[in-house]
Amino acid sequence: MVDKEKRNASQHGRTLVMKFGGTSVGSSQAIRQAADIVHGEILHWENLVVVVSAMSGITDSLIACARAAVVGHVEKYEELITVMYEKHAKVMDDLLAYDEKRKQVCIELDGLFETLQTLCRGIHIMGELTPRGMDAVVALGERMNARLFSTVLQQYGTNSQAVDATTFIVTDASFQQARPLMDITRQKTKSVLIPLFTKKIIPVVTGFIAATEEGITSTLGRGGSDYTAAILGDCLDADEVWTWTDVDGVMTADPRIVSDARIIPEVSYNEISEMAYFGAKVLHPKSIRPVIERNIPLWVKNTFNPACPGTRIDGTYRSGNGRITAVTAIRGLSLVTVEGRGMLGVPGIAARTFAAVAKHDASVLMISQSSSEQSICFVIPSEAVVQVIKAIESEMEFELARHDIDRVWAQPDVVIVTAIGSGMRQTPGVSARLFGALGKEKINAIAIAQGSSEYSISVVVDAADADRAVRQIHAEVIINGSKNE
Ligand code: ADP
Ligand code: ASP
Ligand code: MG
Repeated sequence: MVDKEKRNASQHGRTLVMKFGGTSVGSSQAIRQAADIVHGEILHWENLVVVVSAMSGITDSLIACARAAVVGHVEKYEELITVMYEKHAKVMDDLLAYDEKRKQVCIELDGLFETLQTLCRGIHIMGELTPRGMDAVVALGERMNARLFSTVLQQYGTNSQAVDATTFIVTDASFQQARPLMDITRQKTKSVLIPLFTKKIIPVVTGFIAATEEGITSTLGRGGSDYTAAILGDCLDADEVWTWTDVDGVMTADPRIVSDARIIPEVSYNEISEMAYFGAKVLHPKSIRPVIERNIPLWVKNTFNPACPGTRIDGTYRSGNGRITAVTAIRGLSLVTVEGRGMLGVPGIAARTFAAVAKHDASVLMISQSSSEQSICFVIPSEAVVQVIKAIESEMEFELARHDIDRVWAQPDVVIVTAIGSGMRQTPGVSARLFGALGKEKINAIAIAQGSSEYSISVVVDAADADRAVRQIHAEVIINGSKNE
């Protein structure tokens, strides 16, 4: 970890990266509120960078446009484009006075909508939608909104400029889930943003998007604007990164599922990593590593309730004494089982199974192997299941023919429910409390895995039981657990 004092001495002043998520910049009112927040911070920092997502719903609409185009539904994508255009035009009408700046942003947005039309037409004619083509389309949402937000800031009297992250975040070519190449990104980020700091201009950077070394637009994966903010925090050696969203901070459970979820005022990088990995949408899972490496405090705050301090995430170890701090769920999964009595003692079955899975780039979220070695179970996203089963069957053709392996099958529609808290593994009785809570509601645990870290225990349940499982663990273990302390 880098020493903070030394760092501050070596750089060009205190730096804050602030990211506004889709809902936080999703309407005229929200944009006005976000602009007020930026305005309020200007005097407190020498350097301020704003990262914006697309307006809420726009990324989904852009994906729908591309999908409509590839199957030739011209009317559908035209209609989606009209609705998106109106959404942006309304913000201009509500927030921008008729002046040169408005004229300029209108021209730029018209240009981006024309690009969208052209891309959709191209996808339609070719009848093909590649991950690369999809990235070119979905990147437009952030590119539109950065320009819009920056112009709103300018009209509020703030010196600001929209900057496409394609000019400095460099990634590999795994479109839709691109991985940043940090050395070159660090160098380019500084060379693009520091001159703006020197001129006291606030850059409004597009979240989510980047470009390959050849300059082709890529994206960092859904929800990736958090990741953009963290990458900038790392590259600029920022003092803090704040992500502004639509809830009061990181909570003990998703407030959409658990109505009495509570704010967690402080949480460690380790716990939040586990929460994000296991489905807490409030932060993108990849957004934690860049800030850990530089020990940068990350805050989650509510755009619509800025008086609430939110959640501070940092490297402080707070022993929870086995207390469970949060419960999360990941949906849309299937549990694949490779089973057979003849597997006992046949070396390399697990290695070959996972090598076959890896060929399809399917991420394995959880593994559980029975101690009798008669089965290996693992959880993957449902969309990969058919391919993965085929791949394993072909890899294990010989063992299947000999009946060492009886079958490879999948249970669809499962959910991983995870309880997270520091010090869980060393504290006796945590699992008992968890399974006691599920047992009380007669919820069947299909598979169990105690995370490789000390921070989590995961249970696979049927999708139909998932919300009940989350609520039950929250009520019995988090709320009642804290009452009994
Ligand atoms: P943004 O567009 O600001 O990035 P997201 O929709 O991606 O916002 O993430 C915020 C949402 O995450 C919240 O509205 C909330 O419903 C959901 N969420 C899931 N789990 C949690 C949690 N543990 N704490 C807070 N929010 C959570
Ligand atoms: N707009 C992108 C998405 O909806 C990125 C983000 O919001 O973080 O996934
Ligand atoms: Mg998000």
